[in-house]
Amino acid sequence: MMLPSRYVLVAVLLCQMTTLLANEPVFNLTRITDGVYVIFGPTEPQTRENRGFRNNVGIVLTDEGVVVIDPGGSAWAGEMVVERISEISSEPIIAIFNTHAHGDHWMGNEGIKRSYPDAVIYAHPVAKRRIEGADGEQWLELVEQSTQGAGGNRKVVPPDKTLDDNAKVLFGSTGFHVHYAGAAHTDNDLMVELVDQRVLFTGDIVRNGMIGIIEEDGSFKGNIAAIDKILNDQFSFYIPGHGPAGGSAVPASYRRYLNAVVSTVEELFEEDLADFEMKPKVLEAVSEFSNWKNYDDLVGQHVSQVYLEIEADSF
Ligand SMILES: [Zn+2]
Repeated sequence: MMLPSRYVLVAVLLCQMTTLLANEPVFNLTRITDGVYVIFGPTEPQTRENRGFRNNVGIVLTDEGVVVIDPGGSAWAGEMVVERISEISSEPIIAIFNTHAHGDHWMGNEGIKRSYPDAVIYAHPVAKRRIEGADGEQWLELVEQSTQGAGGNRKVVPPDKTLDDNAKVLFGSTGFHVHYAGAAHTDNDLMVELVDQRVLFTGDIVRNGMIGIIEEDGSFKGNIAAIDKILNDQFSFYIPGHGPAGGSAVPASYRRYLNAVVSTVEELFEEDLADFEMKPKVLEAVSEFSNWKNYDDLVGQHVSQVYLEIEADSF
């Protein structure tokens, strides 16, 4: 009889496991300034290959323990963040900030809590409500599908506590100051400032090298206003939700994109053009961003959204 022996089956299984481990993606820590690190995510959608990890994760070492800003888009990502942190600190993770309710930023909560169940997760009240509600369940399904299960999430792990605009939290001697942006990228964006280090984690209010969606309950003009405020505050380091970090040039360039779309649509709205007629002129106005990710997919959609925003404002 030619049935495969159990040794062959074990060998096949081991082979499959090795392939899986060999394909495990590696994401490294980058030091920003004293006690502040970022794991930069790839600027691509969530896939099986990246295990659902695609955002920028902030890591801050404080006297009381480690604080994480946006622990990634899957339980796998959260566990990966725990592992990277263990290379630079033996202290526990004591707190997590979720900048908004998009799953690519908060689904790593589950991975962190597996190792540190006492870590306290903070978010804006609207973000907490959305994650606890239908949005949370949708993200759970979405990440399961897009990673074909490689994200490893089993449940929604929502924020524990809420913070509103201007709230200040102190961990040891490290001060965190949060800024609520109103309607901007979504309706629940918090930006997290490290007061002494002059570092700002912008969440998706700012992106670099990648054009982002603006939610229906967000606002293009609100996003621009939020960027104006943080430019005015002159931080030393701006860490966008996706893409490379840097100085004020980083938020300034995303503002330039948003403003070019808004001002061009405004101008053409006055000339009574329909939104589909506006697209070629808007493309011209934002041509410097043609090498940014999502350019082909999102500019047209943004024109229609801004058109509606202006139309609503004009009533
Ligand atoms: Zn987002």
